[in-house]
Amino acid sequence: MKSGRGTIGRLSDPRFLTSATDVSQLGACHAEVALVGRSNVGKSSLLNALTGQAQLARVSRTPGRTRLINVFVTGPDRWIVDLPGYGYASGPRAESDAWGAMIEGYLLGRPTLRAVFVLVDAEVGPTRLDLQMIDWLRRVRMPLRVAATKADQVKPGRQAARRREVAAALGLGPDAVAWISSRKGSGLPELRNELAALLELR
Ligand code: GDP
Repeated sequence: MKSGRGTIGRLSDPRFLTSATDVSQLGACHAEVALVGRSNVGKSSLLNALTGQAQLARVSRTPGRTRLINVFVTGPDRWIVDLPGYGYASGPRAESDAWGAMIEGYLLGRPTLRAVFVLVDAEVGPTRLDLQMIDWLRRVRMPLRVAATKADQVKPGRQAARRREVAAALGLGPDAVAWISSRKGSGLPELRNELAALLELR
């Protein structure tokens, strides 16, 4: 991922805005990006690390909220939307109709949605459910970005090769996969800049 867009810096003053079970409950915003991935991929940790606010991810993990659309606001009408993890359910429609309808409704129902970040585990690689989600997003022509999480779990000598493998499994070049570790902080400045640019936070 390219850096060097200047010092867009941190995602400013992020806070929890609302939870929703249906896209119709969400109001308008200027721009939003969504995060999606299977349960345990490191989505909450990433949200934490990106914003520097531990309580944000805690909100998403609150019992009762883990299966909701959780909205965080990070600038004037700029949203980061945390979609419920799949795993107990799968890509849109496949396993749980209610879950699939909720996610699909959100993804298809937001003209302000700039891109979806699909998180995959760097060591595990894309799972069947990740591939289903990515295929579906491609089919509906939703701009998507793949971010490989927990990159610190890949042995130092295998980092470059593993990034190539993960990317190739998705038909992408290695630079098209953001390579991040919430634990070590690697890849986060670039990801923050990318989110800020998508949200027009300058
Ligand atoms: P979520 O279910 O997708 O929200 O995943 P969590 O953020 O709760 O993380 C799941 C597990 O992965 C937890 O045990 C985290 O500590 C761990 N984890 C998350 N990010 C990283 C990372 O960057 N590196 C490592 N080694 N572990 C991580």
